[in-house]
Amino acid sequence: MGGVFALAGCGGGSDNKSGAGSSAPAGGGTGCDTPINADSKTLRRNLQYKEKASDPAKKCSECAQYEAGKFGDCGGCKLFPGPVRPEGGCASFAPKNGAAPASAAPAGSG
Ligand code: SF4
Repeated sequence: MGGVFALAGCGGGSDNKSGAGSSAPAGGGTGCDTPINADSKTLRRNLQYKEKASDPAKKCSECAQYEAGKFGDCGGCKLFPGPVRPEGGCASFAPKNGAAPASAAPAGSG
């Protein structure tokens, strides 16, 4: 037992930050621009999610956890809430076919 659930109220985070070259449609909505919860951010960091997969063969759109069209141009991921990019990727990538790679080579740095 034991757990600290610190909820800092509902909503918030309305601070508008200076737009830095974002191709989001006017008005905003439920797409790739959908706000991400703090919990989701933590999970993304833990899973090393990136908006651009280092290996094109292991991108979200090719992942079994990917939920296409859940957020418009972006899809969803079964592992955490919020939009993920089709070209994104993370350490928990799972091939749709479930076929294991012939040789699992560890990702080198660079
Ligand atoms: S598990 Fe990782 S690679 Fe697969 S859809 Fe989710 S974020 Fe993308």
